[in-house]
Amino acid sequence: MDKEKISCESCNYEIATHRDEAWLALCNICAPWVESSLRRRGEIPSWASSFCDSRQDMFYETRKALMKYSKIREGRGHWSRSEGTPFPTTERGWYQFLEYVMGGDYQSARIRIFHGIEIREKAIGYSNSVSAIQNRLRLVGENTEHLFGHSIRLDGNSIWVNGVLFGPKAHDIHCQNRRILPQLIFDRYNALDERTVEEMAYVYMRGPWIPLVRDTTNARVPTSFALREEICRIADGAYGGGPSDRIRSALLLWSTAVEREFLTCPRSAWARSFQWIREISQDFSDEVEIAENGIYVTGSSKNLYRISPAPPDGRTDRFEVCRIIHREEPNSSELSVGDEGDDTAPICIHSMTSNEEDLARPLGDVIVSLILALRDDIQTAERIPQLFRQLPGEFRGRRRGRGAAEFWGERYRNYVRRNEQGDGNAQHFRHMRIAVRAARAALDELAEEE
Ligand SMILES: [Zn+2]
Repeated sequence: MDKEKISCESCNYEIATHRDEAWLALCNICAPWVESSLRRRGEIPSWASSFCDSRQDMFYETRKALMKYSKIREGRGHWSRSEGTPFPTTERGWYQFLEYVMGGDYQSARIRIFHGIEIREKAIGYSNSVSAIQNRLRLVGENTEHLFGHSIRLDGNSIWVNGVLFGPKAHDIHCQNRRILPQLIFDRYNALDERTVEEMAYVYMRGPWIPLVRDTTNARVPTSFALREEICRIADGAYGGGPSDRIRSALLLWSTAVEREFLTCPRSAWARSFQWIREISQDFSDEVEIAENGIYVTGSSKNLYRISPAPPDGRTDRFEVCRIIHREEPNSSELSVGDEGDDTAPICIHSMTSNEEDLARPLGDVIVSLILALRDDIQTAERIPQLFRQLPGEFRGRRRGRGAAEFWGERYRNYVRRNEQGDGNAQHFRHMRIAVRAARAALDELAEEE
């Protein structure tokens, strides 16, 4: 029977098979990585794929801008400073974020937001602060009281405000959370808004943007009324495509590792990065082998490693590295990969996410760095004690027994000699490129986990 010719929908390689789980044609290299990525698709909003296709230019710029806020003095205390793309941790952080999103335009909207935040801060400690209003509402009884300009009365676990019921007994969904009342009453009381509390509740609770922040990111969920309303308006496009796209790209950067996922990584960058894995595995076919469960790499120490997708709930790196311990050791010359009976020793190596360039590298690039670093494991282990501990004893001993400079000097000369035996310039250029990448991988982008 003639098999229909299909190419890989991830990297365009001409040999691929249809995969039932992903419902895509995938090649042997891409299959485990794309399938593992698609298992995480629940984290990714449905508009992400088309957005990433059309606005892939946004991510670098947005990430760079957010990095800046997390580093400048004004951003201190208002932005996360952990791994990944920084996100706002306070209302002021959100305000700074919107400064970036809206550029120099729409000053009145920005003034309105800032005013809402500032008045809240100034009221702290006074009887009209948001938390004071909250405390006062807790004391309301079943007799009508006039508080903060509203007639208010308790009704079981719900509360009437000017004839509108808020709480679990409320008819409308936007009124069912009575905890939002202090925020709304605060704005009315301070003349920040003139709409009825019910209208404001509708705006305060409306989706999908704020729920998306809450459910998919670690950013602090904005609480002040004007801030929430404007975030939704901007994301909806009320101020044009630019601001809307900047909010959307930030939401994606906060909710997922954009360039590490099949659905969100720019298509061409993803394809190129996996094509590169194939190139490397062909160049180093003695040391790199592709298997159903990942990529096997034989290091210069003769250790065998496996790079495989991390479990769905796993680390943000999306990969894990194990040293494969074969039962027949120490006859390591007879290693074969992919045996079910392999024992593995996980090694904690992860890619450092310290700057926007590293964060922007597609998954395939990260895997290539890993392959090169593990292939040259003796050298990589200089930087990564976790890996050093996995080296066979002879390498650990020899390095200690001889001067390190002499040892590495000799390795370098061997390396140069090896390159000079290559066939011409193209080969040399490729090795140079690979060597540069390997050095980066070993020195800059990999580190031992704490
Ligand atoms: Zn492929």
